[in-house]
Amino acid sequence: IASTTNTDFYLMDELLTEEERTIRQKVRHFCDTEVIPIINDYWERAAFPFELIPKLAQLKLAGGSIKGYGCPGMSTVAAGLIGLELARGDASICTFYGVHSGLAMSSIAMLGSEEQKQRWLPAMARMEKIGAFGLTEPNHGSDAVALETRAQRDGDSYMLNGSKRWIGNASFADVVIIWARDDDGKVGGFLVEKGTPGFEPTVMKGKVAKRAVWQADITLTNVRIPAENRLAHSHSFKDTSSVLTATRSGVAWEAVGHAVAAYEIALKYAQERVQFGKTLVNFQIIQDKLAKMLANVTSMQLLSLRLGQLQEEGKMTAAMASLAKMNNARLAREVVADAREMLGGNGILLEYHIARHHADIEAVFTYEGTDTIQSLIVGREITGVQAFSSR
Ligand code: FAD
Repeated sequence: IASTTNTDFYLMDELLTEEERTIRQKVRHFCDTEVIPIINDYWERAAFPFELIPKLAQLKLAGGSIKGYGCPGMSTVAAGLIGLELARGDASICTFYGVHSGLAMSSIAMLGSEEQKQRWLPAMARMEKIGAFGLTEPNHGSDAVALETRAQRDGDSYMLNGSKRWIGNASFADVVIIWARDDDGKVGGFLVEKGTPGFEPTVMKGKVAKRAVWQADITLTNVRIPAENRLAHSHSFKDTSSVLTATRSGVAWEAVGHAVAAYEIALKYAQERVQFGKTLVNFQIIQDKLAKMLANVTSMQLLSLRLGQLQEEGKMTAAMASLAKMNNARLAREVVADAREMLGGNGILLEYHIARHHADIEAVFTYEGTDTIQSLIVGREITGVQAFSSR
């Protein structure tokens, strides 16, 4: 009987372009050779592997589908596959890259002036400058629309005051986009450069997911920045949301990467582990679990591919992105939990790699909009009723 260890069960690769397949292979190879062999140690110590930044830069992927300004200008599917493969390797690296290339660079590409794009995007594409995206506040997560950080106009400057929480890369980033409310109560994105007085990031401690990437608490005390540092086309929270919709599809791809990794780890383990005189794959319940895991992986892959195509064609709506993020993060969480269980006691040892995915998927389930918030965005689309407004 033929057996398969292939996670591309419906031959999705045949639907990809040569460029997309090449990019996917490049990232997969990078993760297999550079990331997976070293990452558990960093994860355990809650240290960030700075040594990987120049290696990641050499792949020339940052900026993904952004056209021009030294960015690769690849298809959105190719950009999604990068997220999938990085997450299959390690979620912390995926988040570091996603915050930089997705949230920060997309904000500048989508909302920046020509000068802002020229100034930041080429250096960020080379990863000589690293970006961060500061939206969430201690008192405003899901209701980020109610953010309280202020940007007061003062002559040729803005003065920023407030606080942010959970901001990835912010403790070492060269530029952090701080979302704040101006004198008219409108939300804008403000480029705060490293070392600006009054900008104080502190790395958050005690995280039990994505331990190898750092998020920061930030206090902003009379942070004075030039008025031209406001992202030129950011005039309201709708502009912020447009960036989040674009990057949310990336999180849907990322979830697939966790499920692929979990399935691969579980299958290999079940093929080798002997109990009751037979390898685990001989038992019906194990086969049933593997079949369901593969079904989830396959449906997530196809959903993401179609979402990527719609995004490329400019047809992806906020609800489409939310449905994919909700669906994939939920399914990935199930697949990862089944895999962890299939490894028995070894499933909680870092050495077998599944424990890291098991912890990390919890962050994916929650960030860039929680599972509940995604379902409420889809619910709004279905019913025409907004069920999560504060009014
Ligand atoms: P809350 O909003 O307090 O939610 C708590 C619970 O209440 C959730 O289960 C939620 O679904 C539920 N809930 C909230 N409102 C409703 C409602 N109306 N109806 C029903 N249930 C509701 N933010 C950034 O700006 N930049 C970053 O780089 C960044 N990186 C992150 C990295 C990690 C690892 C994590 C964990 C978070 C990061 N975040 C970042 C923040 C992230 O986006 C928020 O954690 C997320 O939006 C949820 O906000 P919260 O944690 O404050 O939860």
